[in-house]
Amino acid sequence: MKKTPFITKQQAEEIAKTYPTPFYLYDEEGIRKNCAAVKEAFSWNPGFVEYFAVKATPNPFLMDIMQDYGFGFDCSSYTELMLAYAVGAEGSKIMFSSNDTPEEDFLLAAKLNAILNLDDFTHIEFVEKILDGKFPETMSLRYNPGGVFQMSNGIMDNPGDSKYGMTKEQLMEGYKILKEKGVKHFGIHAFLASNTVTNEYYPQLAGDLFSLAREIREKLDIHFSFINLSGGVGVDYREEEPCNDIRTIGEGVRKQYEDILVPAGMGDVAIYTEMGRFMLAPYGALITKAIHEKHIYKEYIGVDACAVNLMRPAMYGAYHHITVLGKEEENRDHVYDVVGSLCENNDKFAIDRALPKIDKGDYLFIHDAGAHGHSMGYNYNGKLMCAELLLKEDGSAEEIRRAQTKEDYFATLDQTPYAKALREAGNL
Ligand SMILES: *Cc1c(COP(=O)(O)O)cnc(C)c1O
Repeated sequence: MKKTPFITKQQAEEIAKTYPTPFYLYDEEGIRKNCAAVKEAFSWNPGFVEYFAVKATPNPFLMDIMQDYGFGFDCSSYTELMLAYAVGAEGSKIMFSSNDTPEEDFLLAAKLNAILNLDDFTHIEFVEKILDGKFPETMSLRYNPGGVFQMSNGIMDNPGDSKYGMTKEQLMEGYKILKEKGVKHFGIHAFLASNTVTNEYYPQLAGDLFSLAREIREKLDIHFSFINLSGGVGVDYREEEPCNDIRTIGEGVRKQYEDILVPAGMGDVAIYTEMGRFMLAPYGALITKAIHEKHIYKEYIGVDACAVNLMRPAMYGAYHHITVLGKEEENRDHVYDVVGSLCENNDKFAIDRALPKIDKGDYLFIHDAGAHGHSMGYNYNGKLMCAELLLKEDGSAEEIRRAQTKEDYFATLDQTPYAKALREAGNL
């Protein structure tokens, strides 16, 4: 689908007067519409909860918006749990889907009464020790079927190569042990393909998990209270890619539910999801300004953002669509590499990209950066992470995370003999 920025050049200029580029901008109206659509798509299932994957965009302001739709949070680390706590979530509104989990993380999750979704068979014993033998009433286990997971349009992923989850045998044994230890209600979870742009992924995964849950229930006589389809619903980063339709996805899951679970007497099972990318990617953009142009063997545009602000292109060669604000209708008759300032040649937001002629001072709107964008930030080359702003429904921009400062960057040296000189240098 054609990509249209959710702000104009004039709006960008106005916002940049208060908050200099680069910055992230999130579109509250778009976020709310999408949350409502997700809720509606699964409204046929009374227990449905979307647990927003906090790692995608760990910002409490955005998390708070999602609470208006009854959503909870999927956390995988101590600090993500802290964020869930900070927005007032606790108990069954927190899904703790971690892996290689430190003891202190499990302890905090247990203190918050989060649902523990164990990644590995050995974690059963690990958690039992940490919790002095007292398991919560509800426990979930993460499944990995191995092999490849293929959909009819050829899209596939490789669970057999992924570090997550447990084998079917381990899963069976795990539920059996937990039942013996007094656990009353169970969940099952799997994440088998990432960034899928097909309406088939969730329904196919649901079919597999529903059948498995039915089989486990028959064998072990345990009660499944939820089935967690996790994340993996993707977005169309490229204009020519197909676009997921959450209503079709929800209906596809419903069909599997009615075919498999309802006849088995499992019509009380709640459907949970842990979407991150689908919830926010399209509703966040990285706004950056062109500050240099360079003509050597190729044409380069240098911008004031770099890969520390958005790592996906450098890390995975990921495509992010770019609109030059104010030049939306101009011909894309120039071919550029759009680059940041890191001393790393993979610091390129676009390679050989056809764009309108870019002039210094132009604002570039880098699309679909609302998830796995700012959150993957780092500080290589001493570069600082930028601010996050929320474009509110009344058109105003609110700062929801300030930019990192030099003081933040050097804070881990503040107890050393160099601290004073670093402060002085910052004021030169
Ligand atoms: C990353 C992750 C998600 C979210 O994935 P998206 O692709 O952003 O939807 C959900 N659950 C778990 C356990 C994850 O690790």
